[in-house]
Amino acid sequence: MPNVKIELCSNCHYRKKPFSYTLARQPLCRICSLEYERVCKICHKKFPAGFGRICPNCHYEKTFKHRVGLYSLSYSHWVKQYFINFSYWLKKRRGALYATMYLHKYQTYFSEIDALAQKIQALPTYEQLLNTISDATHKKNYLIHLYLDEVGFLKLDKHLTDKYANYYLIQKYLKSFEENTLEYKILHGYYHFLVLRLKENKTTLRSIRFALTPAIKFLQYCQNFKDTTPTANALEGYLFLYYGQRASLTGFINFLSKNYKYNLDIKSIPKAVLKRPRVSHQILKGRLIKVMQNPHDKHFKEPYIFRTIIGYLHWVYVPQNVFISLKNVHKYKNGKYYLSLCGQAFYIPDKVVEYLTNR
Ligand SMILES: [Zn+2]
Ligand SMILES: [Zn+2]
Repeated sequence: MPNVKIELCSNCHYRKKPFSYTLARQPLCRICSLEYERVCKICHKKFPAGFGRICPNCHYEKTFKHRVGLYSLSYSHWVKQYFINFSYWLKKRRGALYATMYLHKYQTYFSEIDALAQKIQALPTYEQLLNTISDATHKKNYLIHLYLDEVGFLKLDKHLTDKYANYYLIQKYLKSFEENTLEYKILHGYYHFLVLRLKENKTTLRSIRFALTPAIKFLQYCQNFKDTTPTANALEGYLFLYYGQRASLTGFINFLSKNYKYNLDIKSIPKAVLKRPRVSHQILKGRLIKVMQNPHDKHFKEPYIFRTIIGYLHWVYVPQNVFISLKNVHKYKNGKYYLSLCGQAFYIPDKVVEYLTNR
């Protein structure tokens, strides 16, 4: 079979074998070459002939109606009409093309609402939704909530949304470590300690969430060391890298010292300061060349590579208890990369990020 070249028809934008070319050398499919335009049977507007018998817009309208009908079959009488009305509301807001393409996404969430409605034999309240469906706090379902609020199905309540959003995030955080590990026990212990404070009205769910984040990060950081239990050495390295977390981590460190007898006192850890490398510029240059020339050598670990680069480029010493990884590299709005040490930003060349990403 001869190799037939398929191209995008410049008129109807379908991938077809070109039949002819316009004066501007743009490909045209067979139908577009012969007819160019047709009149839509439904709306009587002109459209590219190769598209078919009806215009794109009427085509999407048709598909849209078909899908709404099909999806709505699965709903109980509680939710069915709400789903249909929502679909048309969505189409009005975002157009037939968008509504047709993305209806299935919203359909899934309506199914969950429906399952709940059937279970309780009533339309659920907003809080019941949030309480039952973990996905209910997800941003992507906001449009549905907005609509249901508009039609009086439920009443949106920002405080409730925040409360459950924090609650579900905390539940997710609590799964950061495998069960039966020391880290798991510590994290859950800390969580229960915070919940007691919540019951005494001394903290909020939001604050609990903010307290758990650095605690998890620090426990994960300790995994870099041979002795993975929290130590003053690990904490010092951590604060070199996450300089701004001293205050937010204090509560957790105090908890650790009290309940686990680790000899940790955040106050005794000196503020991290930048120092010069202990080896010459020439040695650092040699190390850097070796690393860049051997991208597949797994002996060169990320922390070592960063230590070398920061030393060579910025003439700054990165202590051995500081484990920098690609995760610590951030991007400026102008596309340049940097990482921060001791609260200061250090530029990282694109080439280095590229090199580490592709390793
Ligand atoms: Zn039409
Ligand atoms: Zn065409």
